[in-house]
Amino acid sequence: MSGCAPKSPPAGAAAVQPAVNENAKRMEGVEYSLYAPPVGVDADTVRFVRVDESKCEGCGACEEYCASGAIQSINDEGIHRIVDPVACMNCGQCLTNCPYGAIYEGVSFVDELAAKLKDPNTIVVSMPAPAVRYGLGECFGASTGTYVGGKMHAALRKLGFDYIWDNEFTADVTIMEEGTELLHRVKSQGSKDAMPLPQFTSCCPGWVKFAETFYPDLIPNLSTCKSPIGMLGPLAKTYGAKETKTDGKKIYTVSIMPCIAKKYEGVRSELDDAGYDRDIDATINTRELAYMIKAAGIDFNNLPDEDPDPVLGESTGAATIFGNSGGVMEAALRLAYEVLSGTKIPSPDIKVVRTHEGINTADVHVPNFGTVKVAVASGLDNAAKLCDEVRAGKSPYHFIEIMTCPGGCVNGGGQPLDPEIRASLFRSTVAQINKRFRARKIKA
Ligand code: SF4
Ligand code: SF4
Repeated sequence: MSGCAPKSPPAGAAAVQPAVNENAKRMEGVEYSLYAPPVGVDADTVRFVRVDESKCEGCGACEEYCASGAIQSINDEGIHRIVDPVACMNCGQCLTNCPYGAIYEGVSFVDELAAKLKDPNTIVVSMPAPAVRYGLGECFGASTGTYVGGKMHAALRKLGFDYIWDNEFTADVTIMEEGTELLHRVKSQGSKDAMPLPQFTSCCPGWVKFAETFYPDLIPNLSTCKSPIGMLGPLAKTYGAKETKTDGKKIYTVSIMPCIAKKYEGVRSELDDAGYDRDIDATINTRELAYMIKAAGIDFNNLPDEDPDPVLGESTGAATIFGNSGGVMEAALRLAYEVLSGTKIPSPDIKVVRTHEGINTADVHVPNFGTVKVAVASGLDNAAKLCDEVRAGKSPYHFIEIMTCPGGCVNGGGQPLDPEIRASLFRSTVAQINKRFRARKIKA
């Protein structure tokens, strides 16, 4: 699969976005502008995260949480603005940490999606990310980090989605693709077509934009794999359409993410592959899904647990740790270990690379090969340290995972908002993910 190529010059139309608070809706404590960027828009002209300066109290919390310096004070009162949209990774960390609710989302597909769900000529398919099912329950009073995957699938069916497909399917594909690419890079060193090491993961759209903006010389180090959702969109419209005997043109794919930056990824037209308008027609986040479930009057807590639909709803369970920082690395390493060593990995649980904050490094000893050196960075300030090392030719690593949000997707900018419990949400969610991972059997 292609993906993560250097950004081509903007080809699409510039966005004409509504002004602050025009056509806005409050969903789970966050203001959203109901603006769905049209097909062909230049993603880099869309403002996914915006400041309502009339609500800004000048506390400066947003600036503290912004790793790229995109949001800054513009006057003596400390009113903040995203002064450098090019440097904004759309991560939403400023939004989730603004104590005054002055930062809002500039894009929402909720109204467009509601109309598609009612349209008998549109086949609407769901594609929820692993971390959504650990955040959604909180909007319905569950304790932080509770796994509600079964109820989430049932709720999507009740909302009227025609196929409940799941991003855990392509998280499995990512493991195979990224693991295989790492093997190729490691084995090809010294040959004339060798690809550079270390290999960086390429799942996180905030990190990909950060690399493209600040470290374009390191793009050859990024995995050539699309992100899991970047793979599932085109698969849904091609393979999924074939398997369900559906016209791919009628399929409307809905990416459901713990993230705001995934809205940016979803409208990047240079990533489209399936031959239709868009591979990913709409992207909503955990808060918007909770809003839609409540607006439809669905009694979420009393829903039975349901499974997703075949074929693109099936997964091994290995992908469930993708929501944690270090999860992508760990899953890909298992594959690389077994292929390089020719032996079964003694334990599939390589917890040494799961990280909650900062940079974690590890030496993984692989029989018949040697040592694979890995690093996992959580947060873009940490990513920059590792990138500087690579740029200086001093990086000792084979494989580096980067997640924009501290702790990974479980702490994404689209997750339920509650500043007082964000820290405990993160710790509790990590524990729940690890518990679920241990309980699930990974098929060979
Ligand atoms: S965190 Fe919110 S209130 Fe504080 S300076 Fe930033 S935008 Fe203004
Ligand atoms: S969305 Fe992220 S990168 Fe953009 S201003 Fe907010 S914290 Fe900074």
